[in-house]
Amino acid sequence: MICTQIFEMINMGIVVLDKELMVTKWNRWMETHSEIRAEQIIGHSIFEFYPQLKTKWFNRSCKSVLKFGNFSFFSQKLHKYVFPFKSVYSACTNFDTMQQSVTMGPLRDESKQIQYLYIMVQDVTEVAAYEQKLLEMNIRDPLTGVLNRRFMFCRLKEEIERFKRYGRSFSVIIQDIDFFKSINDTYGHICGDFVLKKFAQLNMERLRSIDLYTRYGGEEFCCILPETDLQSAQKLAENLRRIIEEYVFVFETSELRISMSQGVAEVTPDMTTAEELLKCADECLYQAKKNGRNKIVAKSCQREKLLPGQQNRGKI
Ligand code: GH3
Ligand code: MG
Ligand code: MG
Repeated sequence: MICTQIFEMINMGIVVLDKELMVTKWNRWMETHSEIRAEQIIGHSIFEFYPQLKTKWFNRSCKSVLKFGNFSFFSQKLHKYVFPFKSVYSACTNFDTMQQSVTMGPLRDESKQIQYLYIMVQDVTEVAAYEQKLLEMNIRDPLTGVLNRRFMFCRLKEEIERFKRYGRSFSVIIQDIDFFKSINDTYGHICGDFVLKKFAQLNMERLRSIDLYTRYGGEEFCCILPETDLQSAQKLAENLRRIIEEYVFVFETSELRISMSQGVAEVTPDMTTAEELLKCADECLYQAKKNGRNKIVAKSCQREKLLPGQQNRGKI
């Protein structure tokens, strides 16, 4: 009697299946979220109602529980969910489907023989959404929403590793807004923030989905361009330069235009760290500023001679 009340009132789904995977128990929580009443599903195969469970991993887990008395755990991180229930948090999270942690285990009779298996379903949507938010906060710049400097260094490190291993080239563009201080001084810091946000958005819109746009610091941004040689990166920089030059930023009653200078560099075989590549792009940026701003300078920073025994790997 008490057990039945707990079974019905507990804030998690409990399902019991027999050896043929027929449903023998389906608690109130499962009824609420599945919109299937216990009397509708009991006596039927679970696959009649959830054919999508006919997967290798589900069958293997059931077999392992019923045959060997093992326990199975389906983590939200790997499986997302087992039962496709609508999430009650869909309005305030990115999840339309309830994220679930699911445990499966054996149920034995008095002679210790396994007769059934139970499935316990926990709604972890809130936790998953919170984790996702924390992850986003960790990698994104709060003002512009683009990837932050920490993420930029991680990705550059990875790209350099990929280049060393597979010879897959990539380039970076460092952008610096020209005379940005004067925007703050003339129109105020809030206007400066507005321009930074719009500037980032304009650049992002032009990049490919595999490119990464990151805030390097202040009014400096860095594009990471996988599978892109120096010439293609330079072409892209020219497109971006024109987009920014032609755009009219409207803030309250003011209309303003800006320009940017860009330094472009391609990874070279003698580079071992992200800093070396950024230094090369930074030198180009400095030269672009010196050349009169609203300019692009691109160069390969490869050393003239490789050390004896060193091989030139990848293109360039
Ligand atoms: P240059 O053409 O040589 O790059 O000149 P500049 O004025 O752009 O360069 P400088 O480095 O002197 O000034 C950068 C300015 O960017 C100074 C700083 O106040 C401003 N800045 C940096 N981060 C932010 C931000 O998040 N919001 C706003 N509004 N301003 C910022
Ligand atoms: Mg600067
Ligand atoms: Mg600047």
